[in-house]
Amino acid sequence: MRNVLFFNYPDLFASQEEEFQQTFLDVGRRGAFIKQRELKEFEKCLASFLGVRHALGVGNATDGLEVALLAAGVGPGDEVILSSHTMLATAVAVHFAGGTPVPVECGPDHLIDPAAVEAALTSRTRAIMPTQLNGRTCDMDALGRIAERHGLLIVEDAAQALGSRYKGRCAGTFGIASAISFYPAKVLGCLGDGGAVVTNDTAVYEHASELCNFGRDASGAVVRWGFNSRLDNLHAAMLHFQLNKYGQVMCRRRQLAALYTERLGDVAEIVLPPAPDSDPDHFDIYQNYEIEAEKRDELKQHLKDHGIGTLIQWNGEAIHHLKALGFTQQLRYTDRLFTRLLMLPMNMSLADEDVHYVCDNIREFYGYSQ
Ligand SMILES: *Cc1c(COP(=O)(O)O)cnc(C)c1O
Repeated sequence: MRNVLFFNYPDLFASQEEEFQQTFLDVGRRGAFIKQRELKEFEKCLASFLGVRHALGVGNATDGLEVALLAAGVGPGDEVILSSHTMLATAVAVHFAGGTPVPVECGPDHLIDPAAVEAALTSRTRAIMPTQLNGRTCDMDALGRIAERHGLLIVEDAAQALGSRYKGRCAGTFGIASAISFYPAKVLGCLGDGGAVVTNDTAVYEHASELCNFGRDASGAVVRWGFNSRLDNLHAAMLHFQLNKYGQVMCRRRQLAALYTERLGDVAEIVLPPAPDSDPDHFDIYQNYEIEAEKRDELKQHLKDHGIGTLIQWNGEAIHHLKALGFTQQLRYTDRLFTRLLMLPMNMSLADEDVHYVCDNIREFYGYSQ
């Protein structure tokens, strides 16, 4: 029996141990821990990678989303529409910015359904917060039209989508501001928490920088209330060397996705994510490989019995399921979808043979020949 981990945390370090150690020694010996050269350089490199004016390192993407909302002007009384199929972080950011998160249905692509956004609009709606889920970018044309027609802001949750593109444009660069996560299991991961706020708007960037640094502006003067949320200089350095080889990472993940498609495309009991290049409008980076499966729980157990780790995203709870937080929405499509979702291993530690082994076991479970 093979052992295929859902995500191999030690391997994130081990696979690049020398570079991590060198960076640690170099930064450590110089005592360059907070707001030093490496952070500035990484922010510049990230902005240029995304084709955007500003990137700001922050403590994590949850902070980043809150900062993006606050700097964009979202506040008390504002409703913000988001997909119920997102991390709790998206809704948390709206809540702590003072607004009200309004979860709506996703579509068959697992991304926010533009028709559902339209149906949820009220006089208090201030922003749409599309989550670029699983490394795929939403239909930003449709969302952009709705936002324009109703004078709404777009603040993207691009935590899972660094390098994902829609019609050639990077996730995180469509709205007024967005946030990206560098949590270890994200496609670009550091050795702890980290994130970035991304924006083309210089005033929003300055406002966001102030919020994250005790309300101090570039000259050091206190100009507003702010808190402390910064990306560690050490983490910035570790992210920078990984960003330099990010092209290969995206390429490898897309290869793995293509292999899953090749091996599982004929299995009628499951629905796969779109294959790479199956739609010229989308360039997916496959942060996750989330399938829909009949007899999902039995399949998960079968794979577990054969040494294969899988994960049900968000512990199987959509945002509107979180009754303790006061949500009362009824979302039938998402309810049904959440009985079917399962994420297969998708990470840089996988060998082709691992994917074959996963696929062999899925085929066996549904009674297909190898
Ligand atoms: C990971 C994630 C976040 C939060 O990122 P952190 O850096 O852990 O705060 C937010 N939204 C989505 C969709 C995520 O996957």
